[in-house]
Amino acid sequence: MIASNDPRARTPEEWREAMGDFGEAPYRGDQIFQWIQKKGVLDPAAMTNLSKTLRDKLSEELGDAARVVREHRSEDDTRKLLVELADGNQVETVLLPSGHKLDADAATADDDDGPRHPGTTRVTQCISTQVGCAMGCVFCASGIAGLKRHMTASEIVGQIQLASRQLEPNERLSHVVFMGMGEPLHNYEATARAITLLTHEKGLGMSPRRLTISTSGLVPEIERLGADFDGQVGLAISLHNANDERRSALMPINDRYPLRELMGALRRYPLRRGRRITIEYTLVSGQNDSLDDARGVARLLARLPVKINLIPMNPIEHSDLGPPDTKRVLAFQQVLRDADFHCFVRRRRGDDVSAACGQLVMLGHEPNKQFLRRQPRGEPEE
Ligand code: SAH
Ligand code: SF4
Repeated sequence: MIASNDPRARTPEEWREAMGDFGEAPYRGDQIFQWIQKKGVLDPAAMTNLSKTLRDKLSEELGDAARVVREHRSEDDTRKLLVELADGNQVETVLLPSGHKLDADAATADDDDGPRHPGTTRVTQCISTQVGCAMGCVFCASGIAGLKRHMTASEIVGQIQLASRQLEPNERLSHVVFMGMGEPLHNYEATARAITLLTHEKGLGMSPRRLTISTSGLVPEIERLGADFDGQVGLAISLHNANDERRSALMPINDRYPLRELMGALRRYPLRRGRRITIEYTLVSGQNDSLDDARGVARLLARLPVKINLIPMNPIEHSDLGPPDTKRVLAFQQVLRDADFHCFVRRRRGDDVSAACGQLVMLGHEPNKQFLRRQPRGEPEE
């Protein structure tokens, strides 16, 4: 069921049905879906194959769309877009061109890169799913900020539509990672609908294998995701420690879904043949970066089809926590490599614009300050 307050997120089938109320032929519904989801046109006034009457009605129903209010390009070509939602809240999305193979690819759970088109640069886009986040991880700017509200499905996919206009002629969106601001599985309905829209054959028709959902470990929703999309959607788990007590100190969600339950959900995830679950491990100096911690990870993940991404923590405001030095990072990686894991250190891309994926609240920018004053936690305001 489509939430009545999110008409932009209708599927073609729902649009066709809605055309009855508009007094229009059903095929007009397909056209509207294509304008929004395939061509990335959010403003009905620009949907030129529709009548003026229908465009006016649509404008009234759909209301204002989100817009890009700032773009920062870093030296390595990573672009961060600041997106303002219709109610004035701001989120961020990051474009990661794949010249720098390790990062964009390491961010996804897709080992198969798919067909390469000569002369084109593949782009991975990192998107947000909530304004802020309720999970309270101590090293994360969104966690410190707390949750302001869930994003709607149309706002989630809207980030891709807005960014499509910022792609260079030689660039092509190839992967989408739900690793921006927020916990996608805490906003399950909207996240699931976003997946449905992105993979719909009448829209962008993305393969679900090219989408990766990153989660701090909401066990029931991991199961739901696996069942709803038949294990096709890539899964990334933010682990950060293999010991319950130490993990809970970094991520309060671990008290609710401890490692035993999380590992059970991972074993049951109906992973497609040849695919791996991505394990994200943010290395925080003095908190989870010892060789013992690394050995614990190796024991915990033994025999699971995973690849491990080590991410040295990006320093954030309002926290003294920081990354270990490079030597320690490499020693941690070596323990895991010696135990035969695929283990990569993810370079922090776009550091000069605070665009590191997964750390999207802009340091020192107004929206963050606004979150921090509020210090909300728990459920969103309705
Ligand atoms: N809420 C989801 C997805 C968004 S966070 C999740 O937690 O998985 C995406 C990734 O960014 C997570 O692995 C998170 O641990 C990481 N991250 C958050 N803050 C970070 C920081 N300051 N430095 C490095 N990685 C960070
Ligand atoms: Fe939320 Fe992910 Fe940040 Fe934790 S790391 S607070 S789950 S966005």
